[in-house]
Amino acid sequence: MTSRRSTLAVSVVAAAALTLTACGGDGGSDAEPTVADSPEFEAGTTMAELAEAGTITIGTKFDQPLFGLQAPSGDPEGFDVEIGKIVAGALGIAPEDITWVETVSANREPFLQEGQVDLVIATYTINDERKEVVDFAGPYYEAGQQIMVVEGNPEGIEGPEDLAGKVVCTTDGSTPYQNIAENYPEAELLPGVAAYSDCLDPLRSGDVAALTTDNVILSGYVDQNPGEFELVGEQFTEEPYGIGLEKGDDAFRDFINDTLEESYEDGTWEAAWESTAGSVLETPEPPAVDRY
Ligand code: GLU
Repeated sequence: MTSRRSTLAVSVVAAAALTLTACGGDGGSDAEPTVADSPEFEAGTTMAELAEAGTITIGTKFDQPLFGLQAPSGDPEGFDVEIGKIVAGALGIAPEDITWVETVSANREPFLQEGQVDLVIATYTINDERKEVVDFAGPYYEAGQQIMVVEGNPEGIEGPEDLAGKVVCTTDGSTPYQNIAENYPEAELLPGVAAYSDCLDPLRSGDVAALTTDNVILSGYVDQNPGEFELVGEQFTEEPYGIGLEKGDDAFRDFINDTLEESYEDGTWEAAWESTAGSVLETPEPPAVDRY
């Protein structure tokens, strides 16, 4: 147990006693965040509209264990999903009133721009290019790009330089794709891949030599498929995860940033981690919110 975990244990337990409700052993979260009781918002704001509607539509991944994985119930589970419940709860919206929509890497900006979702919480890296068309609250987590191969690492890949001349799988519209295309052009990227889980069979069959994306996504696949895959080398980028929202909605962005900071303080962020990604990964420090 890290020192942060032990020092926070008391406050997490206290928060749990006050705000968390048990969830019936379905493999999902053990803890649900607080749902605000009739919160008041300035008329005309997105917060007021969503609170009045009593529902919110959130885009997330459906094929990424630990962060967003569709459960037998049809709803996704994972750390991103729990972050969504924290934001919805601050709007007075209960978890069962959230509409979850699957987003893949390439459709996150369009779904926000077209209003198909209110938020995207989907292992979504904050960067300047994306900020030209959407806005981001957060970050609420910092990942990094890494490489996954079949167990035993038969091709001896230890870093992105070793991908030269090899077929590599990652998704269209992702930062890992862009990074490999721009900085490691001798790697051959498999075209037209929508979701990371589409890379697993080609990796098993040897049609691709590696899957590269964020370390936490890869860790989820290693955990989900015992004995099949391993991570190699170190992370070689920084991927701060943000909550995507419509560009220009500054009041909503401030509200989400406030909500994230409160979740860092009251233990709900840590409880969200521990009930999901924390089953496999160490509990990190929450990153500072960037109110750009
Ligand atoms: N975080 C990276 C991105 O937003 C890779 C993970 C993903 O595609 O969801 O592009």
